[in-house]
Amino acid sequence: MFYDEIKQYSWDDTTRAIASKTARDVEIALGKEHPDIDDFMALVSPVGAAYIEPMAQLSHRYTLERFGKTISLYIPMYVSNACTNQCVYCGFNHNNPLKRVTLTMEQVKAECEAIRRLGPFENLLIVSGEFPSLNGVNYLEEVLHVARPYFNNLTIEVMPMKTQDYYRLTQSGLNGVVCFQETYNETNYKKYHPRGMKSIYEWRVNGFDRMGMAGVHKIGMGVLIGLEDWRTDVTMMARHLRYLRKNYWKTRYSINFPRMCPAEGGYQPSVVMSDRELAQLTFAFRIFDHDVDISYSTREKPAFRANMMKLGVTSMSAGSRTEPGGYVSTPDALEQFEVSDSRTPLQVANEIRDLGYEAVWKDWDKIFD
Ligand code: SF4
Repeated sequence: MFYDEIKQYSWDDTTRAIASKTARDVEIALGKEHPDIDDFMALVSPVGAAYIEPMAQLSHRYTLERFGKTISLYIPMYVSNACTNQCVYCGFNHNNPLKRVTLTMEQVKAECEAIRRLGPFENLLIVSGEFPSLNGVNYLEEVLHVARPYFNNLTIEVMPMKTQDYYRLTQSGLNGVVCFQETYNETNYKKYHPRGMKSIYEWRVNGFDRMGMAGVHKIGMGVLIGLEDWRTDVTMMARHLRYLRKNYWKTRYSINFPRMCPAEGGYQPSVVMSDRELAQLTFAFRIFDHDVDISYSTREKPAFRANMMKLGVTSMSAGSRTEPGGYVSTPDALEQFEVSDSRTPLQVANEIRDLGYEAVWKDWDKIFD
């Protein structure tokens, strides 16, 4: 399991190794067809920032080779904001006095129909807080059954589960699972996740092994930028990605590095990442792993998303509402985070086309299951 592997790597040593990278290290990394973790550290290092132009060109080339001129579009559907966890940066934190909503199956159906009216989406991301007795495996299985006739590709972003539960859901039409480790800094992890199952670092970080063992078709991973030193965190994630590729090689992978947005509770990020740094990180990941799907959400602003479309990003959300029931009406339930790109899906698709790219609504068919 990955927890046993990550214990071999010291957070502080990794931070020091990144800080010690030189211009020569970056040039060596840029000259390799298949960079290793040391090369990745050079690419994301402060010194690497001076090489952003050649990194952008290389990232563009690899992205074009592997993905063509395409951007996949997906849309999240929040089904429940009930949560027993207390993540300090999240609007759905158990301690926040907000109206809790868990959609009934009739409401899920209505949401699916409302989403289909927004655009020809086939990639649906089902999102829920962690409240096992309300939105656990049985509930999610029902949601998958209701959503299946409307969408070809169903992904969940919910609580980590046991292997047999992941397997059970794959038998009900589940294709992908997204789970953010948030931070790989085990020492500080509990500071951000003080209560509930999410406070157990080992359970969360080993969840990806359980997905792989269950045969989940696509695994999405990510760190939340704003908690810890981002360069060290993404290096740990790069190690995790390489570990997963080696052990679960039939699975496809996607990565995401959302920058923290304001949420109810007013948590202030302790780390701020500039657009230029996010671009450097995106290029570094593409050069490190030519095949990984790199996803940007509507947390990012439209102009920045447009600039990054040709340079490494391969999928985006569009038209997102981040509260349960948000597509049918404007409910009084609170959003999980603020959306920066509030354009309609068709506006986003038109922009993709205007940039000479193709918006891909569907890249999987139920018949493959
Ligand atoms: S981030 Fe997820 S687990 Fe944490 S409080 Fe928010 S909804 Fe719950």
